[in-house]
Order: sequence, then C-alpha cells, then structure tokens
Amino acid sequence: MKILVFNCGSSSIKYQLFEMPEGKVLAKGLIEKIGEKISKAKQQAGDKEIKIEKPINDHDEALNLMKDLLTDKEKGAVKSLSEIEAAGHRVVHGGEDVSGSVVIDDNVINIIDRYCDLAPLHNPPNLKGIRAAINMLGNIPQVACFDTAFHQTLPQVAYMYALPYEIYEKFKVRKYGFHGTSHRYVARRAAEILNVDKYKLNAITCHLGNGCSMAAVKDGRSIDTTMGLTPLEGLVMGTRTGDFDPAVIFYLIGKGYTAKDLDTMCNKKSGLLGISGISNDVRELEEKAKTGDKRAQLALDMFAYRIKKYIGAYIAVLNNVHCIIFTGGIGENGSIMRKRIIQNLEGVGVILDDVKNNETTGGKEGDISAENSKIKVLVVPTNEEKAIAQDTYSLVTKK
Ligand code: ADP
Repeated sequence: MKILVFNCGSSSIKYQLFEMPEGKVLAKGLIEKIGEKISKAKQQAGDKEIKIEKPINDHDEALNLMKDLLTDKEKGAVKSLSEIEAAGHRVVHGGEDVSGSVVIDDNVINIIDRYCDLAPLHNPPNLKGIRAAINMLGNIPQVACFDTAFHQTLPQVAYMYALPYEIYEKFKVRKYGFHGTSHRYVARRAAEILNVDKYKLNAITCHLGNGCSMAAVKDGRSIDTTMGLTPLEGLVMGTRTGDFDPAVIFYLIGKGYTAKDLDTMCNKKSGLLGISGISNDVRELEEKAKTGDKRAQLALDMFAYRIKKYIGAYIAVLNNVHCIIFTGGIGENGSIMRKRIIQNLEGVGVILDDVKNNETTGGKEGDISAENSKIKVLVVPTNEEKAIAQDTYSLVTKK
C-alpha cells in the first residue's frame, strides 16, 4: 500500500511516499521558502533527483508542484496519484481532544481548527495541507498524527500549572508537550533494542533538534515532558529560551517592551543564538568554542546543564530507568554535546563509553553507555514520517 506522508509548515512542505507495511521510502521531497521571491523544491526517488527553483506563492501551488514531481515521467515515483491509497499528516496541536492518531473527518478538522489559537504558527498550515491534500487525492482515507497526542497520558499533577484553577477551566491553559511522535517512536525502538516489553519500558527521551524537548516515559507512556502550553517551555533551544522566571516578562514590559517584542525575543532571538550572539547551530558553536569564544562555550554549557537537570528530575519521577535516549539532529550527531550532558552522572548510575559515543553519529543507532552503566544510554535516530506512515497503515487496514 502506497502512503503519502505530509509535514506542512508555515513556509515549507516536507513529504515522503512509503510502500507499507515494508516501510520502504519511494520518494522524499522538500518544498521550502513558499511565498518568498524564490522558492526551492527537491525530490529524491530512488537514485533520481529533481531540483527546482522558482516562485511558489502558496500551499496549493506547492502541492500542485509536488503532484507533478511525484508523477514526473522520468524522475517521479508513481505513474498516477491514484496509486496512493492513504495519506498521513503531521499535526502539531490536538489539545485535550486527541490521545492518538485518528482518521480525518469533519470532527477532526474542527479540533485542529479549534487549537489554531494555541498553535498559531503550526495548526493553520497543517490544516491548509490537509484541505489541499483532500482536494488533490480525492476520496482516500487521510490520518492526522498529533505532536501532543503521546503526552495526553500525563497525570494532572504534571500537566497543571499552579495558576488559579479557573485559568485551566476557562482557557485550557496547561502543559501539553510536543514532539510526541518522535518520543514515542524512539521509546518503542529502544524497547526492541533492549528486549523489554514496550509497555514496561521506563525511559528518558531527549529529542534535541532545532526545537528540543525531553519526556519521562513510564511503562511506555509519557508521564512528563519539558515543553508546555507552547514549545517555549523547558530546554534551552536554538532560538528559544526554555524555562525562566515569568516575572522577567513583567519587568521588561515595565521597561517598554511590548508583548509582541517579548514573544519574538523569547521564541526567535534567545537560546543558543541569544547567548552566543553567533548562531543557533551547535556545530558552529562547537567550532567557535574550540577557538576560545567564551559566549559560544557558555551557550553550549547552558544547553547541556538544562538537560542534565531534567535527567535528574526525571530519574526522580520515574524511580527506575532502563535508558536515556538521544535523538534529533543534535542528539544523533552531537557526540561532544552528549558527553557534556552525561559527564559526572556516575553518582546516579549513568556512565558513557567514550569510544562508542564518538563512533555513533551520522544516523547510526547504538548503545553508547559503558558496561557498568546502570542506566543505558542509547542513540536512536528518529523517523517521524515513518511513524506517521505506520499509524496511517494500521488505522486504514483495521477497518
Ligand atoms: P529539526 O528539529 O528542524 O528537525 P534537526 O533534528 O535536523 O532539526 O536538528 C537540527 C540541528 O542539529 C542543527 O541546528 C544542528 O545544531 C544540529 N546538528 C546537526 N549536525 C550536528 C553535528 N554533527 N553536531 C552537533 N549538532 C549537529
């Protein structure tokens, strides 16, 4: 069964065509800078590659181009779109209404629409992609996989903020958590690697990419996570603050900053970029730190320190932990960063094997902990698209 997976952002569309249940990738594409002067599209189907640069005004135009690329006579992946039997979509926010992937109907569309308010940068383009895909692919089943869904098992004690209770009742202000598809995917894979029943696995999952979050997974279910109402809470990220005293906001409003200024500052100008003043890219900061740049070093150290603090917190929350899992661009490749995070954790039973740590980069999977480490440390490359294809396949074939 051919399943097309969409990840529609505000200015980009990522897609992958899978043959399921094998999980074979037939085509993989990225259309980016939609709405800018020059947009870019590229697609890889087997060894055939297409690259295009031209203006693409909106998501409908982008999806039309995707259709042409997928069905390209020489370099495409299918003869006709009618070969595609189902579609899966990444959706960011499903709030309290969804705790797993679901077949899209009017009710699901209404839910995604309702949470546009809480995820204004993500849910609207997700919805646009779904609507355009329904137009394009006709009457095939389409499935939505929510970033928030895996974290719907958080107990109330973990998801509530200690604000007046009516703020939760009136506005549903609470911790939701994100990157759920990735946390679930790597936790399930770790259970296979360690040969533990997936519903008995206790893990601390660290998704460290452009956005970063961690989850405490008990018996295979998320019971706490670092991101909150929005993806701003928790870890230090490329350009986001993560945790800080909310009174800073009131103080800066007193100094003349507007709510909009502060929103932009906290989401786009902070984190690794804000501290270093150089870049949000860990690779670049590692290079600068080697040459003695103090702020690059500080940014990297703060990034690692915050993760270490949450590892300690989640060891306490879980009581018994099989493994710590690293994933995402930094988690999968940043061996120096992993060492910075894991060093001096012998006291809580976590010890790295330096050789294995250095060898496990570039999409490799592996156990990077020392023989005598009580808690295993694993690198598991994430694959959200594959997880979405798997969910879509199992929902569509269940009927
Ligand atoms: P996204 O969250 O957008 O999916 P990725 O998971 O691809 O992002 O992660 C992107 C980040 O991965 C980059 O910002 C970069 O800092 C980091 N990264 C990529 N390669 C390396 C590397 N070799 N060492 C350290 N960090 C890396």
